This record gives sequence, C-alpha cells and structure tokens, in this order.
Amino acid sequence: LSADAERSITVLGATGSIGSSTLDLIKREPGRYRVQAITAGRNAGQLAQIARAVGARVAVVADADAYRDLKDALSGSGIEAAAGADALVEAAEQPADWVMAAIAGAVGLRPTLAAIERGATVALANKECMVCAGALFMRRAATSGATVLPVDSEHNAIFQALTAGPREGVRRVILTASGGPFRTWSLEAIRAATPQQALKHPNWSMGQKVTIDSASLMNKGLELIEAHHLFTLPPSEIDVLVHPQSVIHSMVEYTDGSVVAQLGAPDMRIPIAHCLAWPHRLDWPAPRLDLAKVRELTFEEPDLVRFPALGLARWAMERGGAAPTVLNAADEVAVAEFIAGRIAFLDIPALVEATLGAAEKRGLLAEPTTVEMALAIDHDARSLARDLLPEFAVKAS
Ligand code: NAD
Ligand code: MG
Repeated sequence: LSADAERSITVLGATGSIGSSTLDLIKREPGRYRVQAITAGRNAGQLAQIARAVGARVAVVADADAYRDLKDALSGSGIEAAAGADALVEAAEQPADWVMAAIAGAVGLRPTLAAIERGATVALANKECMVCAGALFMRRAATSGATVLPVDSEHNAIFQALTAGPREGVRRVILTASGGPFRTWSLEAIRAATPQQALKHPNWSMGQKVTIDSASLMNKGLELIEAHHLFTLPPSEIDVLVHPQSVIHSMVEYTDGSVVAQLGAPDMRIPIAHCLAWPHRLDWPAPRLDLAKVRELTFEEPDLVRFPALGLARWAMERGGAAPTVLNAADEVAVAEFIAGRIAFLDIPALVEATLGAAEKRGLLAEPTTVEMALAIDHDARSLARDLLPEFAVKAS
C-alpha cells in the first residue's frame, strides 16, 4: 500500500478517549480516509454527530434501546443506523482496511475478533483482548493474515524498538509505568484514596477504567499480560520500571547490551498516528518532545506492597490459562464498585485476589480456546466477584 492510497477505516469505540483521538487525526486529512463504520456503547446523539462529521457509512450503538434515537439523529444523512451486540460484530465485519479496536472492556472481544478473522489491519487499543484470550487472538491473526498493531503506548514503543534487531537478540523488554497519582503516597493514604483522587492521572487523559487501573498499577499488570501475548515473550523477559515523566514509553534490551527505547510527548495520538500510517509515517503537527524542558528523567522500582495489583497480574500471567481472564473480569467489577463509592481503593486488588482464589478452587482456570469460552469465564468470574463483594463493601455507619 503506497503512503497516499485512500484507506477505508472503521473505529470501534468512536466516542471514547482513543476513538476521539483517532478521529482527530483522520479529520486532518479528509481526502485520505473513508470512514466505513463507527460504533459506541450507548451515546446515540454523540455517535450521530461524529458520523455526520466524518461521513461514516454505518453507525452502530451497542445498546439496543438507543436505536430509535440513533435513527432519528441520522435521519436525512444517508448514514445507516444499527444497534445491538450482533450489529457491533457486523460493524467490525464491514470491509475496511484498517480497524481501530477501542471499545473499553471485555465487551470488545467479539467485535475485535471479527475484524481479525477477516484479515484486517487492526490497531489494538482494547488490551482486554490480549488479557482475556491473548493466545487465541494471536492464533486467529496468524491464520487469517491479520496485522495487529499495538496502540497502547508501551506496546507501541516495544513494537517500534523491536525493529532494531532480530528476535533471538532480545534479552528482555522493560515496560515503563508513570506510577500514577499515588506513586509517593503511604499505604495508609492509598487505603483512604477517593475516586476523584484516583481519577486524576498526572500525565495522561484517558477513559475512567484505565485511569483507575493506572492508579492501582493494575493497568501495568494487564500490560504485562498484553506484552506476553503480543510479542510471544516468556514472563521472565518482561520487567516493569516506574518512570514518572512518561517520556520513555518502553524499551527493549538486546543480548549485546544495547537498550532501544521509544520516546515522545505523552499524547495517545502519537502511537495512534504510528498505527494509522504504518508502515509509513504520518506527517502531522504532533506535540513535540522538548527534552531540555523536561530536564530530568527518573526511574524507580515498582512497590508491590503499596501496589499489590501488579503482583497479582504477574501471578496470573505466570499461572496462565484463564487466570488473566478472571483477573480482568474481577477488576472490571471492582473498579466499577470503587467508582460508585461502595468499596475502598485497596479493596480493588483484594477483591481480585479473592476472586482468583475462588475461581481456582472451582477449577475455572482452564485456558479458553474459543471466544465464547473466554466470555463464559468472564461472566462466571464477574458473578464470583459480585458474590464476594459483601466482604468488602464499605460499611454504612
Ligand atoms: P473510553 O471509556 O473513553 O471509551 C470506550 C468506548 O467504548 C466508547 O466509545 C464507549 O461508547 C464504548 N463502549 C463502552 N461500553 C460499551 C459496550 N458495552 N458495548 C460497546 N461499546 C462500548 O475508553 P478509552 O480510554 O478510549 O479506552 C479504550 C480501550 O483502549 C481500553 O481497552 C483501554 O484499556 C485502552 N487504552 C486506552 C488508553 C487511553 O489513553 N485512553 C491508552 C491505552 C489503552
Ligand atoms: Mg499503556
């Protein structure tokens, strides 16, 4: 594909943080991209507005009850409207060369897999695909010939750094972590952290779930598992390093002692631009990295006592099978409960750990070999987590 050939694109999760950043890049070069399908969870009004602005052919809302609103909001535009879980999968099946998979959570599994199975180039933001069913997704991509490009800034950095040498020359990868808003807080202070405090990320502006996960370091844990599958790396070759400035997005260490890093301003449009133009480079007015202004890059070891989620995720990665699927499901339940003010911040890892224990006892940790199996485990793990909730719920005084 030449650098200036027209590309048809689909954006799954178009109303979200990653979806908006993707559309921001696309709108800069109107003649270059043709938008096939865009999707959203339930915000029909916002989706219709975006569909009109980018001239999408199809707009799909996951919530079937929002169909009427979407249809009305699109009337006279010639844009097709659809709703429901199957319509979401059909949106991914539409013929687009390039698909941004940016739905948040395990609900993104089926649509993303549909794009992979038809051999599309898939820009993967939905890390849950790798966490819940990574081995399965990578096998399907190999069979269909799909290209999976990592959007997550760390994995995008590793993807770029891996072009510096042959695979057998890789000694390890080093995932960097900002450390989140509680990096310097005491365990007692973290215990009492409120949702507002956890939602204030020092460097990145992101969706709620991934922001809370960044504060607990669960996000880095999910990213360990994501790296394990995306790059077929053994757990022992993936390390985490806290780097508060978020300038180095990750690194690859080679056997000869060379360490290759990717740097950039902390703006998700930079890794998205890399995926959008790959294997070429997008020329756009990106926020520039001014290292003289940054002045200092610092590093520290992650603290597994104050941030137990990272240790749990590593355990799940090493345990393999469905342990990461259960970890992710329990974390989705726990984060929603924390945001709603029903459990405390450190109850997030505690509930995840208890759910992993309960799932292991019930023999629920066998490797999912189909997406239906991964979704069934996800479903069961959520009920286990909900059953365990009363043990953690903040007591009414
Ligand atoms: P977000 O919450 O801002 O947006 C999520 C999108 O998914 C929205 O379009 C929403 O309408 C849609 N959605 C939500 N529930 C849905 C459902 N039930 N069915 C269908 N669609 C639904 O999230 P985000 O921050 O853009 O993150 C998207 C994904 O990218 C996540 O997997 C996240 O971990 C990953 N990611 C995000 C960032 C970031 O900077 N935001 C960085 C790295 C990775
Ligand atoms: Mg990341």
